[in-house]
Amino acid sequence: MSAATVRVHAPGRVNLIGDHTDYMGGPVLPMAVHLGTTVVGTRGGGVVELRSDLEPDPVVLSLPAPDPTTVEPRWGRYVAGAAVELGATEGFTGTVTSTVPPGSGLSSSSALTVAVCLALGATGTHAELAVAARAAEVRANGVPCGIMDQLCSVAGVEGHALLIDCDAMTVDPVPVPEDACIWVVPSGQQRQLADSAYAERRARCEDAAALVGPLPAASLDAVEAIEDPVVRARARHVRSESGRVLAAADALRVGDLAELGRLMVASHRSLAQDFEVSTPVLDELVEGLLATPGVYGARLTGAGFGGCVVALARPGVELDGWHVRPAAGATVEIGGAE
Ligand code: ADP
Ligand code: MG
Repeated sequence: MSAATVRVHAPGRVNLIGDHTDYMGGPVLPMAVHLGTTVVGTRGGGVVELRSDLEPDPVVLSLPAPDPTTVEPRWGRYVAGAAVELGATEGFTGTVTSTVPPGSGLSSSSALTVAVCLALGATGTHAELAVAARAAEVRANGVPCGIMDQLCSVAGVEGHALLIDCDAMTVDPVPVPEDACIWVVPSGQQRQLADSAYAERRARCEDAAALVGPLPAASLDAVEAIEDPVVRARARHVRSESGRVLAAADALRVGDLAELGRLMVASHRSLAQDFEVSTPVLDELVEGLLATPGVYGARLTGAGFGGCVVALARPGVELDGWHVRPAAGATVEIGGAE
């Protein structure tokens, strides 16, 4: 193997609408953002050695990679997850640089995992790459996440959000109008208990699906007839959120930002009341943003229990967060010798 330089970039993402629908096979409307993670290095040898500008300690793994859950430093678990998932036998030596703030709801973990999978030589369709990266991330952190983050990072289209059907794994790019400014506003609240609560929510949704069939398309009457009030409320969120995602994609297509904002607010309320993944801090942040002139809508984004709010605003409005722009998906360049 020649020591050609491999340069991979994988974007972070923000989910405009559609939370806790992906793992139930529903639709989501995320967009890849201009903040991303870049891995540069060379393939070869039997060791994966990576340094990150965000971490003090490097990751050094002999191949075949060990059980990801045993790897230190912890960020190496994503690297090991990728190496194990891909059955990597050829090493990689390089650096990781990232503009995605970790733990802020922009899915830095998926940007990292997608980038490492590609650096290690993963190939395939967008769906195949996303499935591999998701499996790698599950190996790393044990959270049974859906396909949205990885598929968005792989399949992003500049200037577009992506309407993703998480069951069929199809991606339908939807143009984001120039006058739609999307902000990610951190709540300052660290996500707490998010992983265990996530698994618990998912289990209740699966209970509901066993009763009424796939939730995104379930009959509303059947959902309302579910006896257990908690299971019923969780199912109601997934069902109603799925409808809002499709309506939001339509609103974006015709540039109806007021309608998109309204749907985002309804999503937040459903996540708060039916899915119970909001917090007083997130609720207050959303209310404050909605009271800000020029803001069409705002909602918690991601798993909940802290993290970030996504807001839709007119041009010229300045919010206390990141103004994110819709960006292309992951790229791999293989250049000349270093
Ligand atoms: P997010 O919402 O950003 O995905 P997570 O908690 O899922 O938050 O993932 C954050 C973790 O991912 C970090 O603690 C770190 O272990 C890892 N990570 C993400 N980006 C990087 C990076 N550029 N370098 C090293 N580790 C990273
Ligand atoms: Mg993550």
